[in-house]
Amino acid sequence: MKWSQDADQAIKKVPFFVRKRVKKKVEAFAAQKGKTSVELSDVNELKKKFLSKGGMEKDIKGYEVSTCFGGAGCPNTANSGTQLAKEIEKIIEKENIRSFLKENVKGDLKFHHEFRVTLSDCPNACSRPQIVDIGIIGSVLPGVSDEPCTLCNACVDVCDENAITLDEENVKPVIGSHQCLMCAKCIKVCPTGTIGEKEKGFRVMLGGRLGRHPRLAMEVAGLHTHDQVLSIVQKALKFYKENSENGQRFSHILSSVEQILT
Ligand code: SF4
Ligand code: SF4
Ligand code: SF4
Repeated sequence: MKWSQDADQAIKKVPFFVRKRVKKKVEAFAAQKGKTSVELSDVNELKKKFLSKGGMEKDIKGYEVSTCFGGAGCPNTANSGTQLAKEIEKIIEKENIRSFLKENVKGDLKFHHEFRVTLSDCPNACSRPQIVDIGIIGSVLPGVSDEPCTLCNACVDVCDENAITLDEENVKPVIGSHQCLMCAKCIKVCPTGTIGEKEKGFRVMLGGRLGRHPRLAMEVAGLHTHDQVLSIVQKALKFYKENSENGQRFSHILSSVEQILT
C-alpha cells in the first residue's frame, strides 16, 4: 500500500521495535475504510485510538520474535536463524506470556512489557540483538584446513576485524580468535578451501534493553548449537516467569548469565 510523505514521516517516529507491527495495523485500518493509500489522518486516527484507555492492550501479544533480512537472501548471511526463530516462537507461545503479564502488570499492558527475541544471521546484527531480552547471532567459526594456501591475500582483504595474518614461511593463514567475529566472509572468499568452516552455530546474548536506563545484553560465552539455543531460551523464560514482578523486564532481574544457566 502507498504511503503519503507526511504519513511516512509520522510512522518513522514510532519506536523501531514496534514500527513494523504498527505499520501493518495502519494499513489494515486504511484498507477497512476502503482506501488504497495511507494518509497522515489514518496514522493520527489510529494513534488516538491506541492512546485511549485500553486501546493498545488488545494488540499486545506478550512477546515478539523477529529476524533480520537474512532470510530474504542477504549475501552476508553466516548462519540462518529462520528455522530456529520458528521453534523459539513455538516455545514462547506455550509459555503464555500474555496471561503471565496480565496477572503481573498493574494497569494496561503496553508494548514495552513484551518479551522480545531477535535473530540476526550474521554479526552485522541488523535486528539489534544487543538490546532485546534474548538476542541471537548466526555465526560460523573459521578453521584452517590442510588444503594448500596460495597466499592470494583475499581472506586478509575481506576481514573487517584484521583477524587474519598470513604466515608466509609456513604458507598458511593464521586466524586471531580474539578478533574473529565468526562472520564467515573469509570462508566464502578463499578459493582453495584452506579456510573452511570449523563450527557453525549461534552466539546468544541475554538481558538487553533500551528505555530510561539502557543496557547492552550480556553474552553467553561460546558458540551454541541449535538445540543449545532452544535450551537457553527455555531456561531464560523459566527464570523470567519465576522472578519477574509487576512487569519487570528480563533485563531488570538478570544480573549475570550464570543465573539462568545453572
Ligand atoms: S544481520 Fe547480516 S544477514 Fe542479517 S540482514 Fe544484516 S547483514 Fe544481512
Ligand atoms: S570469520 Fe569474519 S571476522 Fe573471522 S576471520 Fe573470517 S572474515 Fe575475519
Ligand atoms: S587462506 Fe585462502 S584466501 Fe587466504 S591467502 Fe590462502 S588461499 Fe588466499
